[in-house]
Amino acid sequence: MSHTAELLDDYRNNLLGVFGDPALVLVSGQGCHVTDADGTRYLDLLAGIAVNALGYAHPAWVEAVAEQAGTLAHISNLFTSPQSIALAHRMLAVTGAPEGSHVFFANSGSEANEAAFKLARRHGRAHPDAQGRPRERVLALEHAFHGRTMGSLALTAKEAYRAPFEPLPGGVTHLPATVGALETELDDTVSAVVVEPVQGEAGVRGLPEGFLARARELTRECGALLVVDEVQSGMGRTGAWLASTAQLPAGEFPDAVTFAKGLGGGFPIGAMLTAGPEVSGLLGTGQHGTTFGGNPLAAAAGLATVTTIENENLLANARTVGEHLAARLRTAPGVVEVRQHGLLLGMDLAQQDPDDAVAQRLVAAARSAGFIINATGPATVRLAPPLVITTAEVDTFADALPGLLSRVRRA
Ligand code: PLP
Repeated sequence: MSHTAELLDDYRNNLLGVFGDPALVLVSGQGCHVTDADGTRYLDLLAGIAVNALGYAHPAWVEAVAEQAGTLAHISNLFTSPQSIALAHRMLAVTGAPEGSHVFFANSGSEANEAAFKLARRHGRAHPDAQGRPRERVLALEHAFHGRTMGSLALTAKEAYRAPFEPLPGGVTHLPATVGALETELDDTVSAVVVEPVQGEAGVRGLPEGFLARARELTRECGALLVVDEVQSGMGRTGAWLASTAQLPAGEFPDAVTFAKGLGGGFPIGAMLTAGPEVSGLLGTGQHGTTFGGNPLAAAAGLATVTTIENENLLANARTVGEHLAARLRTAPGVVEVRQHGLLLGMDLAQQDPDDAVAQRLVAAARSAGFIINATGPATVRLAPPLVITTAEVDTFADALPGLLSRVRRA
């Protein structure tokens, strides 16, 4: 029995396998590679699902975390630390948030979106409809993924995730991502419109051209908040600090932005940015918080991540390596479409029939060949490698892809 098989036996006896049986037991990582319990090495083109922006064991990140662990790891939420203050400051600066904006720290994307949902409820009370009733509706998009806690699940569209846990917090309507649908549904009963600028879990799908800019105009006109979920797309993943900025006219900003994943470079941390003094004032003292959110250790990891992204020019790297990889993937026979936003890529594969789960087979074949990728649907694969990945490294996957695709064709 391999070491992996033994560990998986133990796993099954001790852990709730909520995501099914893990495909690998990983023991170490260096740069863009990870090694499993049997000593097999893989090029990680998924980066902990868009998390490990700096790859594994980046010296700047390791040093910052080790130093903080040896100085001050956790304090209660009654106190704060220079690290969380500095991280908030840097996030406001790099995202270009308007004057009077603030940051709230949580531990995950779902928690950041819970905060945004509560913000929407508070806004709905502060700005009632024409009849004086609190605005209780929230508009989200079809195919949206915002997390799996009860509030974030209410924002998530996928019925298979939602149905077992009804009733969810109410008032959420999911719309197609069209301006027409938004114009029809948006009125003074709506407290917030919540969107991902790139829908990662839905297969890396950007919003239609002009949608976010129009959503900004319409939400402002009807007094609703525009909340942008940048948990997957933010902090450099798409080659910019925010994927939403380029979709908005200059000088425009969402009312709230949520973050997690890449923010801590592998350390669990989430955040909600509230734009401007009015939105920042909506959550009053004692109305929200967590024990761990933004503790000094997590904040030090976040600071090291942001600083290294800047020092190593990783936004530009995400753009150039992402474009190069997309161009190479598009030439592989059996690849139908590649959607590329920096180093967040969705690749649709030709199916032999409508039930053909070709993406799952490709994920397994790629793993056997030493590459980690994942499937977001039966025919769609997602790539979200570390932002430090090189052209030479992504080329090893692009070189292997035609052979892998022909191997996964059903006889
Ligand atoms: N929002 C988006 C856009 C996501 O992609 C995810 C996770 O995939 C989440 C929220 C939930 O984040 P977490 O898994 O950290 O709770």
